Amino acid sequence: MRLFESARTRLTAWYLIIIAFISLSFSAILYRDVSWKLEQGFQLAEYRLRGLPVPREKAKLLLEDELEKAKRSVLLRLLFINGIILGVAGIGGYFLAGYTLYPIKVVMDEQKRFVADASHELRTPLTSMKTEIEVSLRDKKLGLADTKKLLKSNLQEVDKMRDLANYLLSLSRYETNGRDLPLEKVDLAELVKKAIDKNRALSKKKNITVKEKLEKVSIRGNSGSLIELFSILIDNALKYSQKGKTVEVLTKKGNRFAKIEIKDQGVGIKKEDLPHIFNRFYRADTSRGKDVADGYGLGLSIAKSIVNFHKGEIKVESKPNKGSTFLVVLPK
Ligand code: ADP
Repeated sequence: MRLFESARTRLTAWYLIIIAFISLSFSAILYRDVSWKLEQGFQLAEYRLRGLPVPREKAKLLLEDELEKAKRSVLLRLLFINGIILGVAGIGGYFLAGYTLYPIKVVMDEQKRFVADASHELRTPLTSMKTEIEVSLRDKKLGLADTKKLLKSNLQEVDKMRDLANYLLSLSRYETNGRDLPLEKVDLAELVKKAIDKNRALSKKKNITVKEKLEKVSIRGNSGSLIELFSILIDNALKYSQKGKTVEVLTKKGNRFAKIEIKDQGVGIKKEDLPHIFNRFYRADTSRGKDVADGYGLGLSIAKSIVNFHKGEIKVESKPNKGSTFLVVLPK
């Protein structure tokens, strides 16, 4: 929406500049021409009225002839100017139309890629379930234990698809209807604590200590979406850290801003991956390995939409094998 609004303002300014240029040039040429012709006519009339001798260069002109000539010349000039206006407006319009449609093309291309990626991600668990079911159905000696194993595996795939659907719903909620989310005064320290609690199971499972340095700081925000934002960042910090490491979560009060930092000592992010990690469905190669972590590459794009909705900023600093720090700055 922001892209659309800024493109709209810029285009309005461009249209105004072009229209002003055309109408000013048109007026200036017409004014210069007509006033010159009028001056000539009036001078000639004055000589005749006062009975003065008409200068040689003007003597050959009769007033009527001159009037006819002036009318013809104005008409010709009008035709010429209109031709130029048509040409300039045509060329300008062609380029402006391209300029207007460019952001729409970008959004459409992005949308197409998004639908293709989402379908691909949904097809993978579906294919795997289908194959397992088909193989089991062909097995004449399928026993209760095998059936249970099959159902368990199918359930895992169903959970994955449910997670993906939830991610997609969150994305569309924050990107399209984000404006309707109610804002209230919230304490960030409290929301961060709730997000840490949500990830307690994973931190226990991986034996990761979550250190809290939480300063009370209140801002205007939407509590549900902020808990989701911190939860995504904490979940990533835990997911991409080896067992037994430490994750640190800080909230700090600034004059006009509140800062939230989530530091981990995990696998880190390569320099070449950093510009892309907030893109939808982007996953660095390091996180694709079987033993690393599950995910769809949607968490950080949801996090970014939530930060944008709160008119804040999200930054990351990271060194491979040393760890990553995600910094969120939100206006108070
Ligand atoms: P997901 O975690 O589901 O893959 P995200 O959008 O949350 O998707 O993250 C995108 C990618 O950014 C991850 O696949 C991972 O490569 C990288 N990443 C995000 N957070 C961290 C982190 N704390 N440490 C290392 N890599 C990270």
